[in-house]
Amino acid sequence: MKLETRLQQELATLAERGLTRRHRRLDSPCGPRAVVEGREMLAFASNDYLGLAAHPEITQALADGALTWGAGSGAAHLVSGHLAPHEILAQRLAAFTGFARALTFSTGYLANLAVTPSLAPGRDDAIFADKLNHASLIDAAQLSRARQHRYPHNDMAALERLLAASDARTKVIVTDAVFSMDGDLAPLAELFELAERFDAWLVVDDAHGFGVLGPHGQGSLAHCGIPAHPRIVLMGTLGKAAGVGGAFVAASELVIDYLAHKARSYIFTTAAPPAMAVALLKSLELIAAGDARRAHLAALIRQLQAGLAGLPWTLLPSQTAIQPLIVGDNEAALALAHALWAQGLWVAAIRPPTVPAGTARLRISLSAAHSEADVARLVAALQALA
Ligand SMILES: *Cc1c(COP(=O)(O)O)cnc(C)c1O
Repeated sequence: MKLETRLQQELATLAERGLTRRHRRLDSPCGPRAVVEGREMLAFASNDYLGLAAHPEITQALADGALTWGAGSGAAHLVSGHLAPHEILAQRLAAFTGFARALTFSTGYLANLAVTPSLAPGRDDAIFADKLNHASLIDAAQLSRARQHRYPHNDMAALERLLAASDARTKVIVTDAVFSMDGDLAPLAELFELAERFDAWLVVDDAHGFGVLGPHGQGSLAHCGIPAHPRIVLMGTLGKAAGVGGAFVAASELVIDYLAHKARSYIFTTAAPPAMAVALLKSLELIAAGDARRAHLAALIRQLQAGLAGLPWTLLPSQTAIQPLIVGDNEAALALAHALWAQGLWVAAIRPPTVPAGTARLRISLSAAHSEADVARLVAALQALA
């Protein structure tokens, strides 16, 4: 079939460039000690930053939630799929993040698709996005007809020039709070100041900060001392530090009301199973009471940084659980990941197009479920391979 030729050729090209992707099958729940295709591994590859993904109390809440509320929600939120646990979860998320209201989504990808195209739909609007923003934010911008401006990573002077030159009806600044492949923070205070000065919305994707950063794990805005504000729209995911799945958007009463009327990825999709909301309520409790988990994670981060100083690869400066070790070449990054794998250590090699060409890396992902001994084992293995 001629249709198949192009697909085969493109896959062959990816293979030549060392970009073939494959699934690794886990035979155990998510956690540092994972059975992967029958082999026991020490994993530094998930986004389960607080070690909640297989937490017994959350798992129990999920099971109880299913027994009480059934398996599925049966419809979209605005049809008949908005069950009491969804409502309570949305209220708790709003209270926890300090915003007036929140909407929940089945995934962060869908949550991001809801926000930017709704706030900036038309040709006379403009979107200002960090060049390293997550793919879902980039895809969201593609759903809008607005003019697109990508500014160099965290370059506030460049953003200021773009904002000053724009005569758009509505301006929307969009940023990851913690960049998913670099682990660094956006300068949220400066971004907010620019948003105020140029009367722009500020959309913050806190997929990797929620639960981890800030007092009680309230997230990156709280970490930077920025209180909720009518021009800020916060997105957080619930499948990473929160350990379950789904996402939320928190904002003012007006913005949330508007999104509920306009956002197609909210309106035209089935609400998540209600048991997930029940599990997430337990997760939120554990996050709020999770200072010991966050302190342990911070200690592991310091241990890793000290252990990897002076190696031929550069650890990007990151205060978060995402610790990227830059290798550079695609094949070299893969080879290093394979060498670790051979020793029972699972660290993901991240290559283009996920990261810019020439910056292939190991994305070492730490979790409060790791022990000091786990990190020491990874450090020793990398030192020996250097
Ligand atoms: C993971 C991630 C998302 C998507 O969230 P899902 O719930 O996994 O769909 C969005 N933004 C960022 C920055 C992410 O890292």
